[in-house]
Amino acid sequence: MLQMSIDTKLSIAHMKQVNELADMSEKVLNHGLDTIWQAMQICVEKGLIAQGTLPGGLNLPRRAKSLHQQLMDNPLEANLNDWLCAYAMAVNEENAAGNMVVTAPTNGAAGVIPAVLYYYVKHEMGSKEQVWEFLLTASAIGGIIKHRSSISGAEVGCQGEVGSAAAMAAAGLCAVRGGTTEQIENAAEIALEHHLGMTCDPVKGLVQVPCIERNAFGAIKAYTAASLAIRGSGHHFMPLDNCIAAMKQTGLEMSEKYKETSLGGLAVSITEC
Ligand code: SF4
Repeated sequence: MLQMSIDTKLSIAHMKQVNELADMSEKVLNHGLDTIWQAMQICVEKGLIAQGTLPGGLNLPRRAKSLHQQLMDNPLEANLNDWLCAYAMAVNEENAAGNMVVTAPTNGAAGVIPAVLYYYVKHEMGSKEQVWEFLLTASAIGGIIKHRSSISGAEVGCQGEVGSAAAMAAAGLCAVRGGTTEQIENAAEIALEHHLGMTCDPVKGLVQVPCIERNAFGAIKAYTAASLAIRGSGHHFMPLDNCIAAMKQTGLEMSEKYKETSLGGLAVSITEC
């Protein structure tokens, strides 16, 4: 993709758009992107007003609404991390409640991309065209990861779910901030690299603990990765391809206990009382 970008002088988003247009008109593509973004916004906004206890037996209360309310009441004391946590947790609480989310790239990791994009649109005045660019770039990166490794927690652990979502979000954010193709690849690599080895060990098999907070941290890492990459030249030590290969190998060597089976890690570390 880097070489294709050099050869054609097209951005990742533009190449992805050209690819999609082989199968559909520009009108259909843009409508599809708008529909995805609309659904993402609904998940965030529904999650920010919902309250009560999440189903499944852990008796976890929803937290996004009260966190968001605190931020709204005192915005001068709210920082970037606070907002990203509220938006990501809102989506993952919706997922935990069995409500609609956008698989981006999976349900368990559905909060990362909406949180980063929602923050960009609401707090940094992102435009409709930038939303398209973000989503096209993120999907191109997600496609590479899925093709060369996996986005499934059952196959490679949570590095493949939240790690992939963070790489996609970092790439999208870097793109809309004017990053070069090399910087975008760097952003995705940084975000994925710092999720390598992360296991999937959901308590009681529910996508709640650690998943809800984990998406918040994925969004924060994605934002940081994009910021770090955009301040660099794009030249960096570890190529994204190698990082994806490392993720695959790590996943292959990971015990089955840490691949969505709830037989290890946090899932077997619950205090009995
Ligand atoms: S811990 Fe497992 S179920 Fe939870 S988000 Fe990660 S991969 Fe998905």
